[in-house]
Amino acid sequence: MICLGIEGTAHSIGAGIVKFDNNKCKVFSNLIKIYRPKQGGIHPREAANHHTIYIADLIKDSVKKADIDFSVIDLIAFSKGPGLGPCLRTAATAARALSLTIKIPIIGVNHCVAHLEIGRGTIEKCEDPVLLYTSGANTQVIAFAEGRYRVFGETLDIGIGNCLDKFGRTINLDFPCGPKIEELALKGKKYLELPYSIKGMDIAFSGLLTAAEQYNKNGEDLEDICYSIQETTFAALTEVTERAMAHTEKDQVLLGGGVAANKRLREMVKIMAEERDAEFFVPDKELCIDNGAMIAWLGILMYKSGIRMKVENSFIDQRFRTDMVDVTWRD
Ligand code: AMP
Ligand code: MG
Repeated sequence: MICLGIEGTAHSIGAGIVKFDNNKCKVFSNLIKIYRPKQGGIHPREAANHHTIYIADLIKDSVKKADIDFSVIDLIAFSKGPGLGPCLRTAATAARALSLTIKIPIIGVNHCVAHLEIGRGTIEKCEDPVLLYTSGANTQVIAFAEGRYRVFGETLDIGIGNCLDKFGRTINLDFPCGPKIEELALKGKKYLELPYSIKGMDIAFSGLLTAAEQYNKNGEDLEDICYSIQETTFAALTEVTERAMAHTEKDQVLLGGGVAANKRLREMVKIMAEERDAEFFVPDKELCIDNGAMIAWLGILMYKSGIRMKVENSFIDQRFRTDMVDVTWRD
């Protein structure tokens, strides 16, 4: 079975083609275009306009790159949510048009679950991980329990990527700011005290963001501030992830989302895993960030488990939560 997946929850628009091959996911192509605002954060309508410009070519190019013909595609999948309404609608509209044109079924999938499934689908031995999903808008610790992907902990305010980007903006870094903050943090020497807020299993970042901005106004060294932001936020993420692993008695941990590119975050989670005798996994970078291949792969899993969707019911859902998905493809 071959599926073309379209991702469009936020700043990225992507088209990817994957094949179900011996119970694993074989990626044929995975193309992405990223909207980068000239200033400020993501404006949903402008991001959607960006996606409209690129989606048709991305689809054509992903078919070309996969070296296949449209006629061999069995299924179209799209990101149903969660995400920004205008962006989701653009991706879904493209998926519907394609489904009707080449007369193949369509299926809408949960973006967060796709981040987890692509790890299981592409990484050898990654079978039942706790996922630490760290992206711009989303920050969740997710694991499978009793028929659903349950959220064991999550941000109560902003996503970790958003926290980094917002701080980056106050010091005039270009979006996305995470990579630049990582570079600055490498040169930091002094740890500056920052709020470490874990409430139950949930995390809050906005207090820390305000405190970091205050340090900057007071003229503290930027490298020290970036270092302290990373140490504090990543420690909190690692702590919640470890607690979810202990609670669910799982011995695998998987990273996903754009912030998973950060070497310090990887290092911290890896050390935690090693100390628990657990396995640590990170998908390839292009499968970590928002991408069409992961959407396609989850589409295949759902379709093969018997789930069907009519074009007239292929709605988007901006607030589509991870734990709303009935996981029919695993036990
Ligand atoms: P996503 O929303 O999953 O596409 O991820 C985008 C987010 O990842 C943005 O907030 C970026 O700032 C962040 N990001 C990308 N690379 C890094 C990095 N090396 N360190 C920290 N954050 C990063
Ligand atoms: Mg994402």
